Amino acid sequence: MSTGDKTYLDYAASTPVDPRVVEAMLPYFTKIFGNSSSVHMFGQLSGSAIENARISVAESLNCQPDEIVFTSGGSESDNLAIRGASFAARESRNASHILISPVEHHAVSMTAEQLAHIHSFELEYLPVDEYGLVKPADVASRIRPDTAVVSVIYANNEIGTINPVSEIGAICREHGVSFHTDAVQAAAHLPIDLQELTIDLMAIGAHKFYGPKGVGVLYIRQGTQITPSQTGGSQEMGLRAGTPNVPNIVGLAEALRLTQNEFLSHEDQSRAMRDRVIGQVLEEIPDSKLTGHPDMRLSNLASFIFKGVDGNLLLPLLDVAGFACSSGSACNTANPVPSDVLLALGYPHEWAFGSLRVSVGHDTSPQHIESFLAVLPDAIAHARNGSLAS
Ligand SMILES: *Cc1c(COP(=O)(O)O)cnc(C)c1O
Repeated sequence: MSTGDKTYLDYAASTPVDPRVVEAMLPYFTKIFGNSSSVHMFGQLSGSAIENARISVAESLNCQPDEIVFTSGGSESDNLAIRGASFAARESRNASHILISPVEHHAVSMTAEQLAHIHSFELEYLPVDEYGLVKPADVASRIRPDTAVVSVIYANNEIGTINPVSEIGAICREHGVSFHTDAVQAAAHLPIDLQELTIDLMAIGAHKFYGPKGVGVLYIRQGTQITPSQTGGSQEMGLRAGTPNVPNIVGLAEALRLTQNEFLSHEDQSRAMRDRVIGQVLEEIPDSKLTGHPDMRLSNLASFIFKGVDGNLLLPLLDVAGFACSSGSACNTANPVPSDVLLALGYPHEWAFGSLRVSVGHDTSPQHIESFLAVLPDAIAHARNGSLAS
């Protein structure tokens, strides 16, 4: 996607809404606007739009409609999963040990940290290898009778690594412990069949797969105990109070259906562009490393670190040159800290500050990639000098 002379290479941060999805959403702003809890026809029409969306999502994921809870996005789904499963496990079997990977999205890790600090849960981090992979054997050796929930990200948003979540889930199931995975990135690029995958709780968010922002799903396998974290009305089977956002829910269902049907048709070109970026960067730019797994990684995501580069300088330089990328971490210029994920992989600070994430999408062309690769070496050289001067 280009807007004027700007090229968007940050599809892992968000995607434009597919025009077919916008079309599906439109009637629900102005024509079918009733409160889905209302008894009258206006309410019933909204209510049945939501239930049809739930059926469609269940078909896309191969699960039951009553296993689908609509939320305000990936973050809320992660919060509901971790907080809800932890509180339920403590109440039903006095379990208060939480086991998560050190490469989780903050929506998972900050929730677990809060449970530890305010609610006296015991939080333990799993080890990862240099690629950010979690080994199932490490879950097996750390899971305990009093483990409340285990969480391992499906595909990492910063480094693209894809974890063996189903094998990890099978270990959790043997121990009777709920297993959550954050599949917010995975849903756009991998088939998700919940009859095949051993997963109890799974978060997705529509704006990562060409759907609207502000809507997500938490999949909750039948029989998984969960305490609601947003209380009030009885919407969403009592698990998520509040009047549902009907246009967004309709949009999520359509975007997920399209993505799960069509992602394979984008995969070859996406992978070729990703690999062109990776090959060229490693060959042309001194003191550069690929982050994340070389093969088991998202087909659209290339991620690097550069020694002695300040990512906070590199991104604005690229932006001015016309390319929108990300560092893969939330940078705060007043108090720059390298990302938790890169530190968990064992990179020293002088490398971990200089991260770059390039993620391609449906509107990226090989020409965009060539133009980007033409300016990148200079931008990195400037960011290196800049960080030396400061
Ligand atoms: C984007 C993202 C989230 C947060 O989802 P929102 O819908 O933006 O709240 C969570 N996890 C991962 C892996 C993500 O990429």
